Amino acid sequence: MTILTNEKSTLVVMKFGGSCLQDARSFEQTTKIIKKYLKESKLIIITSAIKGITDQLIDFYNKSCSEGSECKYIVEDLYNSHEKVIDQIIDKNKIEYKNSIEFLQKNIDELTQLGRVIRLIRPSMDVLDIILSYGEKLSTFIVAQFLNSIGYASEFISSDEIILTDDNFGKALPLLDETELLINKRIGPILKTKDFDIVCITGFYGSTKDKKITTFGRGGTDLTAAILAYCLQPNYDCKVIYWKDVKGFLNADPRIAEKTALLKNISYIEAKELAFFGSKVLHPLCLDVNEKREIPSEIRDFYNPESEDYTLITKNVVQDKKIIKAITSIKRLSMVTIESGTMVSLPGTASKLFSLLGENNINIKFISQSSSENNITFGIDIEDSMNVSALLRHSEFFGKQWFRIKIDNDISLIAVIGAGMLHTPGIAGKVFTILGNNKINVRAIAQGSSELNITIIIERKDCKKAINTLYDAFINNR
Ligand code: ASP
Ligand code: MG
Repeated sequence: MTILTNEKSTLVVMKFGGSCLQDARSFEQTTKIIKKYLKESKLIIITSAIKGITDQLIDFYNKSCSEGSECKYIVEDLYNSHEKVIDQIIDKNKIEYKNSIEFLQKNIDELTQLGRVIRLIRPSMDVLDIILSYGEKLSTFIVAQFLNSIGYASEFISSDEIILTDDNFGKALPLLDETELLINKRIGPILKTKDFDIVCITGFYGSTKDKKITTFGRGGTDLTAAILAYCLQPNYDCKVIYWKDVKGFLNADPRIAEKTALLKNISYIEAKELAFFGSKVLHPLCLDVNEKREIPSEIRDFYNPESEDYTLITKNVVQDKKIIKAITSIKRLSMVTIESGTMVSLPGTASKLFSLLGENNINIKFISQSSSENNITFGIDIEDSMNVSALLRHSEFFGKQWFRIKIDNDISLIAVIGAGMLHTPGIAGKVFTILGNNKINVRAIAQGSSELNITIIIERKDCKKAINTLYDAFINNR
């Protein structure tokens, strides 16, 4: 009897951030990791720009928009720092060295040209996105050449060829169905080729249907890795590894909390809450994409690749004794309160408010409305505070005298997170009792319907104390 197995081969999609690619030492480490995983599976690597380059490109864009005299030096600097990396990692006698230098020169020339164009036209987000894409284009090309130079057959692919997005420049969203078709068409055949080792794909950007470059926002290379795994999952057994300079998700922010511990197993839904509230470890959207096709995702320490200490994110909610898994925070926040007796009798106020903010690209961190319906409170980035104040005061509707608008800039948000809260009554009560006993004044409260987090708004001066007392009470309570 023959047993037919229908096993898919394994495919690991790895994301390397900018600090994994900055010098000879980090390239050595990247190579070590690649070598190890290549023994067991096919490999796609997604790379960010070299450390610091995206910031320099933003600077280049801003300076090009204003006067331009400094642009020459920024471009020279960009050339030199890439050349330095190429010099360090690729043997000068190899063809890959020549390829890399030529590619660098060609792209730097293009960038210089673009800088001149910006001065003539109106600055715009779509031009910024084109400029930013050069960081990933250069780093990834160099990585592919480097890998070829040390004997791994590698192909460079620029992600605008395979990832389609909407036209929300600077914060684009992928169009997954269209992208899936493109990726399978372009990468499927490469993965089937026998003597082929690694596909190297640029992170951070894609393109609209009419071929304009778009980016996913800072840290967007994580999202590119998730998209690749999502699209190839139907044909391969995919896993994503995000190589970082930390071990994984911690259960509190080490800059504020006195104690922290690594979260080894968490679910997508918990990780999403962590990514949203303060933890900058992963791009928040990549978890949504990983979750859609249940792709196991690991965050691992780049300089400790064999370590057992890493975060594995899967669908499963691990239920242990600790109901609260993590306490995260956004330390600097503004809170806006709109008050008016008229809200009770005026349906649609909330809709008007959030449309106004949405149209002006204001990101809202939490919302809460008192049951008396005479006020709405919401949180925004401090950087948006002046803008929101002006928008409301000048608005036809909210600028009228019967609305009182109050903006408070000394606010912090704390989110208590854990899937176990779902089935455990009394957690919120316990949280507020602890805060009350410690004389911490709660200014507003919000809880998502997922019941995965309780969000508490307090004054910034109480932030550290609140986190440490809650940590002691719920997490470190042995
Ligand atoms: N290079 C981009 C940034 O610095 C994207 C990324 O690193 O993921 O934000
Ligand atoms: Mg980065």
